Amino acid sequence: MKEESKLIRTQAARSQNREHSVPLYLTSSFIFDDAEQGRAIFADEIQGNIYSRYSNPNTTEFIEKVCALEGAEAGLAFSSGMAAVFASFAGLLKSGDHVVAFRSIFGSTHQLLTTLFPRWGITSTYVDAANPEGLEAAIQENTKMIFLETPSNPGLELVDLEWLCKIKEKYPNIIINVDNCFATPYLQKPIAYGVDIVSHSATKYMDGQGRVLGGIVAGKADLIKEMMFFIRHTGPAMSAFNAWLLSKSLETLPVRMDRHCSNALKVAEALEASAEVEVVRYPHLPSHPQYDLAKRQMKQGGGIVTFVIKGGFERAKRFLDALEMVLISSNLGDSRTIATHPASTTHSKLSEEERKQIGIFPGSIRISVGLENIDDIVEDISKALEVSR
Ligand SMILES: *Cc1c(COP(=O)(O)O)cnc(C)c1O
Repeated sequence: MKEESKLIRTQAARSQNREHSVPLYLTSSFIFDDAEQGRAIFADEIQGNIYSRYSNPNTTEFIEKVCALEGAEAGLAFSSGMAAVFASFAGLLKSGDHVVAFRSIFGSTHQLLTTLFPRWGITSTYVDAANPEGLEAAIQENTKMIFLETPSNPGLELVDLEWLCKIKEKYPNIIINVDNCFATPYLQKPIAYGVDIVSHSATKYMDGQGRVLGGIVAGKADLIKEMMFFIRHTGPAMSAFNAWLLSKSLETLPVRMDRHCSNALKVAEALEASAEVEVVRYPHLPSHPQYDLAKRQMKQGGGIVTFVIKGGFERAKRFLDALEMVLISSNLGDSRTIATHPASTTHSKLSEEERKQIGIFPGSIRISVGLENIDDIVEDISKALEVSR
């Protein structure tokens, strides 16, 4: 089956009720047919559900779909994207280990690496996507993991995954961990290049309708097994309800992403044609500095467009306030178009210099382009550009 079909046809085994759509398994625990079955499941001799902190038919179905799409051997579902990202570090690293991370990463991931992990003896070094050659210089004897996001948020810089994975020839024991939330595995498949694990906030495009939190890590079976020990005993499990909802959402991920991408490209083109805009970043816009790489690595350009409005912070504020249909929120990956001012919200904890390093300026605006009719989106943005002058 092709991947669109797998996302629709992968389903938990039908019950004796012959249901069409998969039921919601709201049960904390599972029973054993007899004492021997209980023993064998606990001993890992046969597969079976024990307790929903470990597995549940709804979470298993969700994981199977994501693994099919990512080309992963195994996966684990989490209560949020941050629970997934945290477990991808904490489940695989120990005190004394070192992480090399590309600088533009999600704010809470930055806090994990710079504030929380040092408390437990796990250190990290940042490298710049603009200077990827710096990667090897940052690797230490105790480096166990390389972590990155591509494209980055909100600068939409890319890291060449084919180039990155070549580093494994020299350092076969370093785990490469990619947060693939922005692109989604429909548009970009890091594991095909040799990446070991991908981590995700399912809250974004996987849900796509701004309803629930969720996260997933997928990749090599031995690493997932090691992480399984961590989640069994620490409890960041995804709820059955969220898994049921997210699994349903994955049925429409390809058609939604196709529309997010075609709408986003049109928004990027309209912004580039405007005299009110200094610069537009969108991976599949020919003016993107890494356009060729974006074409190779991403099936389409994704749903996020970032631009710098002329007139800096005050103009950016007037622009946001002049939007009528488009909402102001820090979220992304929703059916509704969302506008964000990163410098004063999602990235306000960074210094102006740190923001500049990752391509955030006082006039930067990130648009998460939704699924409304493209004419309505472009009209609202164009009007706000005029009104805010
Ligand atoms: C939102 C996000 C996260 C965190 O996910 P939550 O579901 O909000 O916990 C991590 N990484 C990226 C790239 C994100 O956009």
